Amino acid sequence: MIIAIDGPAATGKSTSAKLVAQKLGFTYLDTGAMYRCAALSILRKNIDLDDELSLSFLLDSLEIQFEKRKDVMVVLLNGEEVTSEIRKSKVTDYVSAVSAVLLVRNSLVKNQREIANSQDCVVEGRDIGTVVFPNADAKFFLVADAQIRAQRRQKELLSIGENKSISKLLDEIQKRDKLDSERDNSPLRRASDAFNIDTTNMSINSQVDFIVNKVKLIIRGN
Ligand code: C5P
Repeated sequence: MIIAIDGPAATGKSTSAKLVAQKLGFTYLDTGAMYRCAALSILRKNIDLDDELSLSFLLDSLEIQFEKRKDVMVVLLNGEEVTSEIRKSKVTDYVSAVSAVLLVRNSLVKNQREIANSQDCVVEGRDIGTVVFPNADAKFFLVADAQIRAQRRQKELLSIGENKSISKLLDEIQKRDKLDSERDNSPLRRASDAFNIDTTNMSINSQVDFIVNKVKLIIRGN
């Protein structure tokens, strides 16, 4: 079974998807983390996004793994733990440019399909319900007020030692959404059959309950 959770930045997708997966006993797949790993690797190797040969070579050698350590999901990039590093601003500022490149998307989408087709999965991203798994068993699209999203992002950044003003974060979030929604390849869109959830005034628990209840109804065939 595949549950797709899409939506713009900082709408509560990751937190909800993680908990939904836990409650249902499904695997959680954070596709944004995969694009972040690709962006970090490209930055480190200083590869030009137009240089298809170097990019292909890098993508072929990219090994992204998710591992549970003491109840926390860690991200490994070619064996190195990069969980916090991929959340830093230098990666966030660059990731939308990287995720717009077709070569990158083709490679990561292939991996995402391989992982999720072999087990029950909650898959979180931007194009999961529209492109990666258009036949997902249940689809959700999360949205939230921009101000709240900036506050959530500020909290997340503080936890990894970065401090940014709300106005700067608002600007960055809006820029990233624009790039993600207006790109040619798999733009951020709500699938027509996705449940819309506005998380602005919702607690994490109610987001999770809403999704889990819908999924349970689907499992029961209602
Ligand atoms: O979800 P998160 O903010 O970590 O995603 C980082 C970036 O990865 C997004 O801004 C987007 O550019 C890209 N992404 C994507 N398709 C997905 C998931 C993420 O293009 N399925």
